[in-house]
Amino acid sequence: MEKEVLDCSLKDFWENKAKNIFWFKKWKKILEWDYPYAKWFVGGKLNASYLCLDQNIKRGLKDKVAIYWQDESGQEQSFTYNQLYKQVNKFAYALKNIGIKKGDIVILYLPMIPQAIISMLAVARIGAIHTVVFSGFSSKSLKDRINDTKAKFLITADVGIRRGRVIPLKDFVDDALNDVSCIEKVVIVKRSNRKINLKENRDLLYDELINNSENYVEPEPVEATHPLYILYTSGTTGKPKGIVHSTGGYLVYVYNTFKNCFGIDEKTVYWCTADIGWVTGHSYVVYAPLMHGITIVMYEGAPNYPDLSVWWKIIEKYNVNIFYTSPTAIRMFMQYDDKYIKKHDLSSLKRLGSVGEVLNPQAWHWFFNKIGKGKCQIIDTWWQTETGGFMMSPTAKDDIEKLKPGSVNFPLDGIYADVVDKNGCSVTLGQKGFLIIKRPWPGIMIGIHNDDEKYKKIYWSKFKGSYYPGDYARKDEDGYFWLLGRADETLNIAGHRIGTAEIEKVAVSNEFIIEAAVAGIPDNIKGDGFVVFAVIRNGFDNKNNLKEQVILNFRNQIGAFVKPKNVYFVNSLPKTRSGKILRRVLRSIVLGESLGDITTLENEACLDEIKDKVSSSVAI
Ligand code: ATP
Ligand code: MG
Repeated sequence: MEKEVLDCSLKDFWENKAKNIFWFKKWKKILEWDYPYAKWFVGGKLNASYLCLDQNIKRGLKDKVAIYWQDESGQEQSFTYNQLYKQVNKFAYALKNIGIKKGDIVILYLPMIPQAIISMLAVARIGAIHTVVFSGFSSKSLKDRINDTKAKFLITADVGIRRGRVIPLKDFVDDALNDVSCIEKVVIVKRSNRKINLKENRDLLYDELINNSENYVEPEPVEATHPLYILYTSGTTGKPKGIVHSTGGYLVYVYNTFKNCFGIDEKTVYWCTADIGWVTGHSYVVYAPLMHGITIVMYEGAPNYPDLSVWWKIIEKYNVNIFYTSPTAIRMFMQYDDKYIKKHDLSSLKRLGSVGEVLNPQAWHWFFNKIGKGKCQIIDTWWQTETGGFMMSPTAKDDIEKLKPGSVNFPLDGIYADVVDKNGCSVTLGQKGFLIIKRPWPGIMIGIHNDDEKYKKIYWSKFKGSYYPGDYARKDEDGYFWLLGRADETLNIAGHRIGTAEIEKVAVSNEFIIEAAVAGIPDNIKGDGFVVFAVIRNGFDNKNNLKEQVILNFRNQIGAFVKPKNVYFVNSLPKTRSGKILRRVLRSIVLGESLGDITTLENEACLDEIKDKVSSSVAI
């Protein structure tokens, strides 16, 4: 990117967006661009907790419900903005009292309970930095993240509850801390009657801290460039990276993208099913919705427990207007009869959102028809932990008729995306290539924690001057963007580069196949060959015939040169704990290689079935 990376109108554009949120002190400079590092709104001061709470109280929203929380047993709790404000202040005071200062890193290892949001906001209130570790992670993954951040403080709960199982989080913490020396204090939210072993001089109970606390803590005005949090990526392509986000640029970005894409108003009831352990949970469960003072729904539990109607029941109960979820969840529901959906009144829904993976056209149509009843826009948002917020997506203004199922529409205003060849030259419309972003934007990460080299190498070395997200894409004749899969998983079959999403789209075009993943393997003649792993609709049998149909679909929809070396029907695919297909693991199994970093693998049990099928199969 050249020295003046933003022209005046783009600077004005972002400056106007920044004016939509409250600053204790106005910035002196909109952007300081020291390639490849961006500092936004330099000189400005603000506080995330103040924006999410104090501001709303000042606007008269004190008695409005901020959070409706429910767990899988139907237990519920709600917090008005005022109640949330009080809890956050008390906890922030307590955190300060136990020695947490501005800039300290605090690990949050908490299930989807209101105290998770309270903790994030309390940490931010005093200018400390949170690192949320998804509570489904093992003690080993927790330990890795503690060691990487060298955090001194940790907040957890005694237990989490999922699918009726009690998950002993505090025991996992104790395990993780056995050979970790940096953690000085652990705060525990006690939820169950289980006895907890409190370690002297280290462990403190949340309730006791709150009960002995003060009602108010002055929010710490932090510099715009001060880190709000460090968060690890999903680990789909390898070892998770500790992404650091700023306070000012990040909050400006998520505030504005949320409003633009979801078109909320003061009455909106919004539910994003993401766990707070992922970036979606940070940007679009907590910060953006609460800054806007809307009502959010928070659910602790799985989508299919106690049965497949639990989500639809929640939408009906709270009259949810905007519902934001993931392709993996959508495809899970598609496997089953829609009787679970039909029982519920979903007429409150106005807009539906998706994030995390390509939303293939079949899943798009299912979501649109079965959940949105043909009247809700599908806001398919492409973005990453690193980008902070939505980058490409339909917006609330877009006509339903103009959306193309499977496409993420266009880059949002202020985002300069392009599709380029390996030399960085724009490809012609309709061609495939590498997605790049040509101008910095306020939500961009400020770095990888403790790893400048990786930051430069991964994102800024492939296409000089541009941000490289690592995804493969196509811009069609009308300028719509289509994500085709991870660039490093793209196959080169007989000279044709084909993204994993293109191949999987063909596999799932068979009505009996719900989800598919492709694993590329070397082919002496064609360069790359591949095998397909497919999950079949519940109850369907006659797999022999289906295999032939799938192969025929490839021939008809792409060409005879794209023939899978095998099609395996499996019950489930290996996924990250954020629900993304781990194709690299499938590939390693097929090639008999070591599986690499599988700390983020959710369902380890599925590997046995896959290994079994692969080892007993005959190539076709
Ligand atoms: P890691 O970087 O550790 O491999 P990850 O990339 O899965 O993990 P995230 O930041 O959670 O970590 O995910 C971002 C990626 O998810 C994007 O780069 C893209 O590949 C995919 N993605 C997200 N949203 C969409 C979408 N709407 N359409 C297509 N792909 C998407
Ligand atoms: Mg990534």
